[in-house]
Amino acid sequence: MTLRIKFWGVRGSIACASMDHMKYGGNTSCIEVQAGDHRFVMDAGTGIRNFGKVIFEEDIRKIYLLLTHTHWDHINGFPFFTPAYDPRRHISIMAGHLKGQGGVEKVLSTQMHNPMFPVPLEAMQAVLEYTDFEAGENLPLYDDLSVQTAPLNHPNGATGYRINYDGKSVVYVTDTEHIPGKPDQNILKLIEGADLVIYDSTYTEEEFPEKIGWGHSTWNEGMKLCKAANVKQLAIFHHDPEHLDDFMDDIEAQAQKEWANCFVCREGMDITI
Ligand SMILES: [Zn+2]
Ligand SMILES: [Zn+2]
Repeated sequence: MTLRIKFWGVRGSIACASMDHMKYGGNTSCIEVQAGDHRFVMDAGTGIRNFGKVIFEEDIRKIYLLLTHTHWDHINGFPFFTPAYDPRRHISIMAGHLKGQGGVEKVLSTQMHNPMFPVPLEAMQAVLEYTDFEAGENLPLYDDLSVQTAPLNHPNGATGYRINYDGKSVVYVTDTEHIPGKPDQNILKLIEGADLVIYDSTYTEEEFPEKIGWGHSTWNEGMKLCKAANVKQLAIFHHDPEHLDDFMDDIEAQAQKEWANCFVCREGMDITI
């Protein structure tokens, strides 16, 4: 009975595939969470395409897709998520930022509208279920685990997720902007005592002042929040496409010097907590 996390896409903003992005990976946000027999995938960035193959290999029938929000880098992989075209699969899609704004089905459908994409959402043969909730609600999905959520500070809104299973917990907090000197109380509450927090670390402290209003944060802020909330481990996530492998190596060295209990996410990383 363990909680397993696999990173299928760790980039923010846009997928990038140059040789200088290969070490950390170029696909955008997508994280698989396995809690016993339950399977979740958080965000449908371009990384979800490769995860789709696992669904067939392991013949997974039911999966929850938890969306932080619907900016491109978090949904662009969805039209290429092949299990969605297979009538034997059941995919339950949830989002916490679109209630009263048309809902998540409409947004995913719009992305696939002619002439932006040749195949409409209606061509997807899987049982697709859509749920729009209000960020901050708890999601009662299974009896033996709990899912908590919190609203994040991001243009058009975003939702943070915490999955608690068998005494372990993982929290996914992207995309979010911090206010310097004012720790985000919603996030502190969500991450309290967690085993692993995956945090939006798009910018460095040097870059941050130029990017106020863009909706992102820094690893330094993530570390402060984790320490204040007794979190065991921080995962530095949502890498800026301009941050090449050498740059990411430096970030990891600096961050680990400050606090050994952190790492920079790399595509393909598979961890059990
Ligand atoms: Zn993003
Ligand atoms: Zn975003």
